[in-house]
Amino acid sequence: MQLTERNMEKSLCTLAAVIFLGGFFDAAQLTDDTTTEVHLLLNSTSTAASVTVQLQHHSTAKTTPTAAQKLHTTAVTTKKLHRKNISRDSEEENNGEKKPASKTDEKKTQLDCPPLGLESLRVDDSQIRASSSQRSGLGPHRGRLNIQSGISDGDLYDGAWCAAYKDQNQWLEVDAIYLTLFTGVVLQGKNSIWSWDWVHTYKVQLSNDSVTWKTCMNGTEEAIFEGNQNAWSPVLGVLPVPTVARFIRINPQTWYINGTVCLRAEILGCRVHDPGDSSEQDLGSKDPLDFRHHNYNEMRKFMKSVTKECPDITRIYTIGKSYTGLKLYVMEISDNPGKHELGEPEFRYVAGMHGNEALGRELVLNLMQYLCKEYKKGNQRVVRLVTDTRIHLLPSMNPDGYEEAYKKGSELAGWAEGRYSFEGIDLNSNFPDLNNIMWDAEEMAIDKSKVSNHYIPIPEYYTQEDAMVSPETRAVISWMEDIPFVLSANLHGGELVVSYPFDCTVGWAPQEDTPTTDNAFFRWLATVYASTNLVMANPNRRLCHHEDFQVHNNIINGGAWHTVPGSMNDFSYMHTNCFEVTVELSCDKYPHASELPIEWENNKESLLVYMEQIHRGIKGVVRDKMTKQGISDAVIKVEDHDHDIRSAVDGDYWRLLNPGEYKVVVWAEGYFPSMRRCHVGMQPRATICDFTLTKTPLQRLKEIRAKGLKIPQDFLQLRLRALRLRKLRATTKVLNQRRVGQRTLQEERKARGA
Ligand SMILES: [Zn+2]
Repeated sequence: MQLTERNMEKSLCTLAAVIFLGGFFDAAQLTDDTTTEVHLLLNSTSTAASVTVQLQHHSTAKTTPTAAQKLHTTAVTTKKLHRKNISRDSEEENNGEKKPASKTDEKKTQLDCPPLGLESLRVDDSQIRASSSQRSGLGPHRGRLNIQSGISDGDLYDGAWCAAYKDQNQWLEVDAIYLTLFTGVVLQGKNSIWSWDWVHTYKVQLSNDSVTWKTCMNGTEEAIFEGNQNAWSPVLGVLPVPTVARFIRINPQTWYINGTVCLRAEILGCRVHDPGDSSEQDLGSKDPLDFRHHNYNEMRKFMKSVTKECPDITRIYTIGKSYTGLKLYVMEISDNPGKHELGEPEFRYVAGMHGNEALGRELVLNLMQYLCKEYKKGNQRVVRLVTDTRIHLLPSMNPDGYEEAYKKGSELAGWAEGRYSFEGIDLNSNFPDLNNIMWDAEEMAIDKSKVSNHYIPIPEYYTQEDAMVSPETRAVISWMEDIPFVLSANLHGGELVVSYPFDCTVGWAPQEDTPTTDNAFFRWLATVYASTNLVMANPNRRLCHHEDFQVHNNIINGGAWHTVPGSMNDFSYMHTNCFEVTVELSCDKYPHASELPIEWENNKESLLVYMEQIHRGIKGVVRDKMTKQGISDAVIKVEDHDHDIRSAVDGDYWRLLNPGEYKVVVWAEGYFPSMRRCHVGMQPRATICDFTLTKTPLQRLKEIRAKGLKIPQDFLQLRLRALRLRKLRATTKVLNQRRVGQRTLQEERKARGA
């Protein structure tokens, strides 16, 4: 690495260099293997000095000490490099192994200074100013990348900053507070269903004091940056010369002809480090985890590395494939991976059903590594969890969507790119709507209590080959039926709230509180996550977009938020024993890699304590009194809870309940019912409530049948449920084979050059 000085007046610059040398130097290491000029705007003078830095590629980031020594000889001798903040951005930091630089990596190096955090809200409203605003709902604080407006126009929460005047003197200003090496601007149009507004071209101005401004130059001319061509796609403008300053202004020059001057933005910049400034805290995590975004191949490698590190408690398996043939990998973490142990409840986290909501995926990968490391260390809490629970982690339910978003990266993927499956299906409304089937049946029934309230079969239409059911959804449904899951959460992003079923409202109301009979427990589950999440629990946090969930303590009934027929939560609850909630993890769907350590810290306790809730309520084994064999598919009814659950293959069952006294009736086909009172205490340990059932004389059942009386309704439903799943699996197989055939054909054609 070489550093040459050019046009640098030493008397002026040495002091400045002492202050920010580490800063721009670190930043330099993160960018490309080219020689780049760095501008420095110096305080109290408008003199711009520039130095030339030989920039290094990612993979050589570890050579810092040598590079630093050389640097010292030219400018400073005592300063230690402060790499903390910027190195959070280095993908190599916690990985150890070197990654080959792919094409995507090269493209991404342009972005290597992290966003200041207009989108993540790290930048406070008070740091953003503007020349003028159309009204307060379109104020400068709304000029944040990906911010979403409310449905109604004209409220306080509109979808951009919009200037009051249509002239070239308008600006949006961000105070980075610290000296910052600015490298780029990401620009986006206004989010609105009422109007089209975006900026075509803009200039950038920089200042150290917000009084004297210098316009970004491209050679000898003022640089004109290309902005947007639509309202939603973010566009990156790279500064021709990365420049150190404190304030930055975006100054629109031209805009969509029928619109006004509106924009949403993110600023890219590396903070310049000051060794004397104690406010430079480490904002990361102390856990030595692999904090970066993992694409499909990296994720696969990463998961393998965890199983290598912890072979005794982990196992990788796949539950199916995406439309393009990417495998849906699951990691199981348990003291006896690969088998269900009698009485041990099964838990799952599902992330990435919306492919662009990328934080959940990384948190689930972090969790794998964390559980492995802490188990090995003997962390008692983790050892207990792993010993008493069978944990299944699906980091990416929609890998096709994720790959699409990943190609664009965290700042340029926008709000919706990669959300849907390859076929354009929203996986969170692709499950069969069982709510309306049950509600319709209840409406028709003379005696409501006779209508089955659980294990509702998949409807016939849904099992057809031509049904619009994605292979990802099909895979997850099969998985849900294979494993007796008790508790789950599915991880999303773009808001900060935990929502609980029902997601689907009665009578197609767009918004209505639609509680399940287990509402109290679901609210408890949601509260457990929300109250331990460090961002949600912060009373001073500002709202993400336009909805204030803090007034509800950051939890909400799914239907009360917005109706979603065919959601995974509702399906899980109606078709299986498993209780599931949705966690919206962060305002930013796809946070920059530099945010991942702090997001892990924000969610670590929540992820752990939520899993521990699986050990609440009652559990036990339902056995045959004579043979002592476990009875599968026994119905567990809890008084005043019109939602039964069923025992698993070995006769074991889990019924999540809040503390209290419960009358429990257990019944199975061919047995007399049995009743017990079970007490659930405050401690997070399930109360054991075993049942032994006495068989009714077989002869009697046969007599009933011979007389032509009905087989119990419940039994028929169970049969139908099994039959429909078989059908769904059969059509899935056919479809998958057809797709593989098509792919092979396409590849052959490609190979032939057709
Ligand atoms: Zn989502």
